[in-house]
Amino acid sequence: ARTPLIAGNWKMFKTPQEAARDAAALAELVKGVEGVDVMIAPTFACLVPVAQALEGSAVALGAQNMHWETEGAYTGELSGPMLKAAGCSHVIIGHSERRQYFGETDETVNKKIKAALEAGLKAVLCIGETEEERDQEKTLNVLDKQLKDGLKDIFPGSGEDALVVAYEPVWAIGTGKTATDDQAQEAHAFIRKVLAELLGKDLAKSTRILYGGSVKPANIAALMSKPDIDGGLVGGASLDPETFSQIVKFQ
Ligand code: 13P
Repeated sequence: ARTPLIAGNWKMFKTPQEAARDAAALAELVKGVEGVDVMIAPTFACLVPVAQALEGSAVALGAQNMHWETEGAYTGELSGPMLKAAGCSHVIIGHSERRQYFGETDETVNKKIKAALEAGLKAVLCIGETEEERDQEKTLNVLDKQLKDGLKDIFPGSGEDALVVAYEPVWAIGTGKTATDDQAQEAHAFIRKVLAELLGKDLAKSTRILYGGSVKPANIAALMSKPDIDGGLVGGASLDPETFSQIVKFQ
C-alpha cells in the first residue's frame, strides 16, 4: 500500500523568521500522526532555518525548484547537492507556475528530475492541463506528453518512493475551483497507466500520485477516498499551520 503524502508548497511567501516559526508550529501540531508522510517546501532563503526548526520531527523538507548542474556559473540557481546539504529530502519540479512564468519546459524538467535523483532527492514532478486544454478535451494528451517527455530515460532506481507525481490542473490552482473527485481520479488512473508503460507495473503501483489545486480541509477526505489519489500538494491552505495540520489529519 502507498503511504499518503501531504505536501505544502509555500511558494513565494514567508520570511525566514516566519517560516521557521510556522514550521515549528506545524511539527508540533502533527506530532504523533501516523500513516501519513508530511513535507513542506519553503523558499530557498528559508530552507536552512526551516531545516533547523524541523530537527527531530517527521516533517520532511523540500525545495520548489533546482538546477540540473551540480555547480557552475549559473547566477541565481541552486543545485541538487546544495539542496541536499541544506537539509532537503524532496524537490518539486516542473510546477505550472514555473512552466507559465519562468520558461520551464518538459526538456528542462527531464534534466532536473535526473539531477534530483542523482543527488538522492525525491522528485515531485508536477503536471497538469490548462483550462483551454481541458475544454478542448486534450487533458489526457497533455498529461501523456508531460509524463513521457518529463520522464524520458528515467528509471528511478534509488528506492521505490524516489519519484512522486503531482497532478495539478492549472485551472484549479489558487482559483478555489477544485477538480471533482471523479475528474481527479480519472486523471490519476490515466497517469498510473502511463507510468506503468514508462517504469513498469511494480513501480507504477508504488509511485504516489498527489492531487493539487485548491485542496483544503473540507475537500481532502473525499479526494483521498479515490483509489489512485495518494495525497495532496497544497498551496494556499498550507500557509497556516493549523489549517494545514487539519489536511494532514484528513482520516
Ligand atoms: P492552491 O492550493 O493554492 O490552489 O495551489 C496548489 C499548488 O499549486 C500547489 O503546488
